[in-house]
Amino acid sequence: MLRISCPICGTRDEVEFNYGGDASIKRPDIADMSLDVWTDFLFKRKNIKGNHKEYWHHASGCRQWIVVERDTLTHDIKTTELARNHKEKLDAVNKDSS
Ligand SMILES: [Zn+2]
Repeated sequence: MLRISCPICGTRDEVEFNYGGDASIKRPDIADMSLDVWTDFLFKRKNIKGNHKEYWHHASGCRQWIVVERDTLTHDIKTTELARNHKEKLDAVNKDSS
């Protein structure tokens, strides 16, 4: 069974969490109404082999969203952080690259 370390609650069983999707992609700007951009965001996913960042919701605990960096082959968890902190990093990366 997967054990996830919540930054607030500590290490808990996977059954307390709900998977929330890929945390490595950023939602497009709402002003961008391009069908291709939204199709890519909603439906196209990479099937990562190795380290992958993903959202998990601690539904049976603190109810916070966290970002888990997990190896998809071994299920080893490298890092966890609150999603609100991860969003600030994503925004900073996108701001620097634009
Ligand atoms: Zn928690």
